[in-house]
Amino acid sequence: MPDHHVRHQTLAEQPLAEQPLAEQVAAVGRSAGLVAVGVARAEPFDDVRVILEDRRAAGLSADMQFTYRNPARSSDPTRALDGARTLVVGAWPYPARIDPPTGASTGASTGASTAPGGSESSGAAPGGGGPAGRVARYATADHYGQLRGALDAMATHLRSHGHLAVVLADDNALVDRAAAHRAGIGWFGKNANILVPGHGSWVVLGAVLTDADLPVADQPEPDGCGSCRRCVDGCPTAAIVAPGVVDARRCLAWLVQAPGVFPAEFRVALGDRIYGCDDCQEVCPPNRRPGAVNAVGPDGWVDLLEMLGASDDELLGRHGRWYIAKRDPVYLRRNALIALANVASPDDPAVVEAITEHLAHDQPLVRAHAVWAARRLNRDDLLVHVTGADDPLVAAELASQPPAPR
Ligand code: SF4
Repeated sequence: MPDHHVRHQTLAEQPLAEQPLAEQVAAVGRSAGLVAVGVARAEPFDDVRVILEDRRAAGLSADMQFTYRNPARSSDPTRALDGARTLVVGAWPYPARIDPPTGASTGASTGASTAPGGSESSGAAPGGGGPAGRVARYATADHYGQLRGALDAMATHLRSHGHLAVVLADDNALVDRAAAHRAGIGWFGKNANILVPGHGSWVVLGAVLTDADLPVADQPEPDGCGSCRRCVDGCPTAAIVAPGVVDARRCLAWLVQAPGVFPAEFRVALGDRIYGCDDCQEVCPPNRRPGAVNAVGPDGWVDLLEMLGASDDELLGRHGRWYIAKRDPVYLRRNALIALANVASPDDPAVVEAITEHLAHDQPLVRAHAVWAARRLNRDDLLVHVTGADDPLVAAELASQPPAPR
């Protein structure tokens, strides 16, 4: 039969085992739930190291550690595996929408911003309970655990072909966004997130480092932002100081994780958030496409009064998956007090009781934020016996400019 009469099989029609190894690995990752898989060369990302060092020197990383702790290490994936040749980068999608909590509305005109999914936050906890705190979507479930499972499947496949393979996910050993960009998975948005075509930035990223010499992406995904700057203009604290450059000192997502006193100038802007901030993703047009929208249930909300009424052990048990500075629950209470003051009714007896109890908390940092909460709710009457004597943090809070009352 003449050759032109032969219908050649396309790659996709071939049995998986007959396909090139890179195709096999990508197919394994996709069937495990990844929405994008790409390959980058495992080599030092010298340009990224310089950027990390420059931003750290400029103070833009604040006290953030993570990949800033050791840029020479986090920008050099080869350090994690002898003989590493390539990085197989994967993107795991997480829900792009959180349904607002149900129940009585208490949060209007509170400084709480538009709720995830574009609807207005009601400020009420799921199930009609008390005031609610909002959790960023990436933290509503163990998405990194799910990502790791898919990366593990690809690593197992590589090992079954005789290769070394190490999974890097949520790991300070790799600047995962830079790896994803090199692997052609997405483009760097002006909000510094990686945007995956068709899925936006609602993804967590990780990689398998391997000694397999797989074909790498020949070029990065082209920029999809164009002239858009909605994230720059939509950031509640103006933390995006230049395209792709986030000043951590102003970024709410970092400030809720940072130790110490929450900066007074950003407490009202924190609104109802207690962990993470999605604003720069919510306003992003590629993130609003229907394909990127899945609803997330009540895990996106926390009952603030229940949270403040919990013991330290209960708080760590419930929220131990989050990054909590020094694993100290005072920072969860700090965030919850600010959010409570931003959304709750000043006349709610349960709110008054929670603030009163935290004014007597054994940790000065908690007492100081309870002072702010009382003043924000225009309940200075709760402070008549609070002097700040022998309590420098409380004294400083009392001496500071009072917040705009609700
Ligand atoms: Fe890019 Fe606009 Fe999205 Fe910002 S909001 S990441 S500028 S597309």
